[in-house]
Amino acid sequence: MSLDENCIDSDNAVYKTLLESTKAIPWRIDWASMRFTYIGPQIEELLGWTPASWTSVEDWAARIHTDDRESVVNFCVAQSQAGIDHEADYRALTKDGGHVWIRDVVHVVRNEAGEVEALVGFMFDISERKKTEQTLLELQRELESLSFKDGLTGVSNRRMFDSIFEAEWIDAKRNARPLSLILLDIDFFKQYNDHYGHIQGDTCLKTVASVLNTAATRSRDVFARYGGEEFVFILPETDGRSATKVAERCRNLIFKEQIPHEGSLAGQLLTISLGVGCLVPTHQDDPVAFIETVDRRLYEAKQRGRNCIVNDH
Ligand code: GH3
Ligand code: MG
Ligand code: MG
Repeated sequence: MSLDENCIDSDNAVYKTLLESTKAIPWRIDWASMRFTYIGPQIEELLGWTPASWTSVEDWAARIHTDDRESVVNFCVAQSQAGIDHEADYRALTKDGGHVWIRDVVHVVRNEAGEVEALVGFMFDISERKKTEQTLLELQRELESLSFKDGLTGVSNRRMFDSIFEAEWIDAKRNARPLSLILLDIDFFKQYNDHYGHIQGDTCLKTVASVLNTAATRSRDVFARYGGEEFVFILPETDGRSATKVAERCRNLIFKEQIPHEGSLAGQLLTISLGVGCLVPTHQDDPVAFIETVDRRLYEAKQRGRNCIVNDH
C-alpha cells in the first residue's frame, strides 16, 4: 500500500468516527436505485430501527408520521428531482410506536457530468426545540386571552370593551343598525367593603360578574368589567326596548342572588343601578359622547334612589 492510500484510509477512518459520534445522523441514498447505501448507527438509539432496516426510500417514507408523510415526501421528491438542496421538519416514527421531531437536511450530489448521483444528508433530533416552540405558542395564546380578561372576575376587561365597542360602532354605522349599551354600577359598594371587608367585597364582585354574564344571550353580545364595581354590556343589532329588557333581567338576577348588604341605604340586599342607551350611529355621532349619555342615565338612576333603570323614554 502506498503512503497516499494509507493516508486516505486513515482519513476515511477519521471521517467515519466523526460522523458516527455526532448527534446528527448521516445518511446516503443512491439516486438510481433509491436505496440507502449508508445510515449512521446512531439512528437505532434515536428511533429504535436498526441501520440495516433502512433499505429504500419507501422505508424512510413509511417511518414518517401519517399527518406529515404526504407533504414531506412530495416536497423532498420535488426538490430532489429539481436538484435543489433542502430541509424538512417532520415526526419520525419510533419502533415502539412513538415519534421524534426530526430536521432532515438534504444535499444533492452530482457527478462530473452534472447528473444527480446521490442524496446525502443529516437527520437532527429537534424534539427539544419543538417542545419549546409548543410551550411558547401556548404561553402566547394564554397571554393573549389573559390580556383581554379581567383578573378578578374572569369576564372581559376594559381593553376588550374598548376594542369591541369600536368595531361594533363602525359596523352599526356602516349597516345603519341599532347599537345598545348598558352601564351598571353596584349600589353603596363602598359601604359593602366597609361593612364586610375588602376580601368579601372581591368575592361579591365575582358573584355579580358571573351572574350578570348570563344576562345577555346573543352570541355577539359582550359583557365586560368597565372598572371598579361598574360593568357594561354591548348589544349589537338591539333596539332600546330589548336592551331595557336585558337591564331588567340584570336587576332580577341580582335580586334572586339575595346577597345581604346591611350597609346599604337602598334596602337589606345588594342592588344595582343601570343606564341604557340605543342609537343608530351616523357620521354625526361620536362614540365617546354616546357612552357619556348612557353614563348620565346611570347617574340619574343613582339620583332617583338607586336599584332602578334609566333609559331614553
Ligand atoms: P353608589 O351607590 O353611588 O355607586 O355608591 P358606591 O359606594 O358604590 O360608589 P363609590 O364610587 O363611592 O364606591 C365604589 C367602591 O367600590 C369603592 C371601591 O373601594 C370599591 N371597589 C372598586 N373596585 C373594587 C374591587 O376590585 N374590589 C373591592 N372589594 N372593592 C372595589
Ligand atoms: Mg357604586
Ligand atoms: Mg362606581
